[in-house]
Amino acid sequence: MITLKNSSLLKQQCYLAGQWCSADSGATINVTNPATGEILGVVPKMGTQETRRAIEAANKALDGWKARTAKERSAILRRWFELIMENQEDLAVIMTAEQGKPLAESRGEIAYAASFIEWFAEEGKRVYGDTIPSYARDKRIVVIKEPIGVCAAITPWNFPAAMITRKAGPALAAGCTMVVKPATSTPFSALALALLGEQAGIPAGVFSVITGSSKEIGDEMTGNPIVRKLTFTGSTEVGKLLTAQCAGTMKKVSMELGGNAPFIVFDDADLDAAVEGAIASKYRNTGQTCVCTNRILVQESVYGAFCEKLVAAVSKMTVGDGLKGDVQQGPLIDMASLEKVEEHIADAVAKGARVVLGGKRHALGGTFFEPTIITEVTPEMLVAREETFGPLAPLFKFTTDEEAIRMANDTEFGLASYFYSRDIRRVWRVSEALEYGMVGINTGLISSEVAPFGGVKESGVGREGSKYGIEEFVEVKYLCMGGI
Ligand code: ADP
Repeated sequence: MITLKNSSLLKQQCYLAGQWCSADSGATINVTNPATGEILGVVPKMGTQETRRAIEAANKALDGWKARTAKERSAILRRWFELIMENQEDLAVIMTAEQGKPLAESRGEIAYAASFIEWFAEEGKRVYGDTIPSYARDKRIVVIKEPIGVCAAITPWNFPAAMITRKAGPALAAGCTMVVKPATSTPFSALALALLGEQAGIPAGVFSVITGSSKEIGDEMTGNPIVRKLTFTGSTEVGKLLTAQCAGTMKKVSMELGGNAPFIVFDDADLDAAVEGAIASKYRNTGQTCVCTNRILVQESVYGAFCEKLVAAVSKMTVGDGLKGDVQQGPLIDMASLEKVEEHIADAVAKGARVVLGGKRHALGGTFFEPTIITEVTPEMLVAREETFGPLAPLFKFTTDEEAIRMANDTEFGLASYFYSRDIRRVWRVSEALEYGMVGINTGLISSEVAPFGGVKESGVGREGSKYGIEEFVEVKYLCMGGI
């Protein structure tokens, strides 16, 4: 078991309509620690009925919540932010225990998660409307923005806290209410957030967290006409399914889906900085983020030098249980994820790639995998097309800028991209040519609550964070005042 300063943060019940409760059937799901296989506890296995109740409670709470002033809502959100930060260490321990990322990364994610609540507590006060010069002498035109209503959120396991606050922060600040279904493998982070939200004074029904059957909960969230908006982070496959399900009742959707991020190293790059950026963007969370570098494209003349420096740096990375000591890489979330990494390596090697570092399961066993680098990678290999979601860095070679851009854009995805160059003309040209929602230039880290996160093409629709993030949770209403 894990040791917490405040053990009440590990909740084994769901928070529904302001009550802590079990599933109607009493059924539960085990939650395990991916580093040890140990069962950490259980959460309720809820389904259609409980989801409907949570949605109805969110609907009941809606009028009261949206009638409050933005400043009143802001004060509660601010308190929620403070409570999250006061409990940062315990929340980080819970996260590492259920998700596997190193404790330092979990601490970072808790601060990142809290920052969305803080940011949107302020931004909620600035949901401005418009006045528009009229088309008729006796009319005046005003545009107001209103909360969209009851929202549902489905979130993934790779960022168990931040993917929730990035949605709940703007939704609640705008005056919406929300029901969240966290990923089945990482529910404790979500339930701890709900407990702190309750303590911060979020009224009953405004924010519920339910765990259980993905299919039943997802079907009810997407089918119930009360829900006006679904916000989802996860795989492209599930995102497409949920979007199709939402079409039946014409819900608004935000979709943060998969990526296939290129990381381009041009011949004028600062190679040491590029190595540092590549490691940050490739191996963070053991390669399990949707903005993780998936393909490293290196210009021919610096290919050898970059490869050598990358191998030297990555070979120093330590792998282990995130709760024990100073490790840089934890386990993968489950065996299927590990097998996908193995499949990508085997496929690449069969087609001519060379393993220059790692390449196999780690001696620690379980789902630990060696940080891996492969070279001589070509577009015919699986790694070029599919998101690996693991600690595998494949190095492609290119000659001209045009070739690099063509290779980078040769994917149905368009979330994050990165490149290193010191030539200002190249920086502009390449930034504009990349078909991606986000471009990191001379940096491997781009996420922040103040910046718009999101993708184009099959990586999704909508933006999270920043002033754009709150727009996803409001509707524009046009008032035409006649007879003046
Ligand atoms: P990943 O597990 O790679 O993050 P998924 O898209 O499988 O991506 O999961 C993201 C979230 O979507 C999780 O909370 C998962 O439980 C949920 N989910 C998966 N399948 C469905 C479904 N058919 N309906 C609703 N939610 C689903």
